[in-house]
Amino acid sequence: MLRRVLKKLHKKKVKKEYPNRFLAFYYRHKKRLNKERRSTYTKRKKKGVCVRCTNNVVPGIIFCSYHQKKQKQYNKNARKKS
Ligand SMILES: [Zn+2]
Repeated sequence: MLRRVLKKLHKKKVKKEYPNRFLAFYYRHKKRLNKERRSTYTKRKKKGVCVRCTNNVVPGIIFCSYHQKKQKQYNKNARKKS
């Protein structure tokens, strides 16, 4: 009886389901992925490379001119919603 309960509990812990394998990968490697992302972000910031691509930044910000435009549009859309 007790054994059965323990087995069930164990199964529940192991079996975490995600909608697809990409999300599953993301959640399993979340810590490492976020660390990597953060470190490349700071490296790029220091080097003066756009954080979204490999072009040079517009002085004073973290984006190239293309992604600056994109970002402006994102912000506009975000402000409209709320
Ligand atoms: Zn860019």
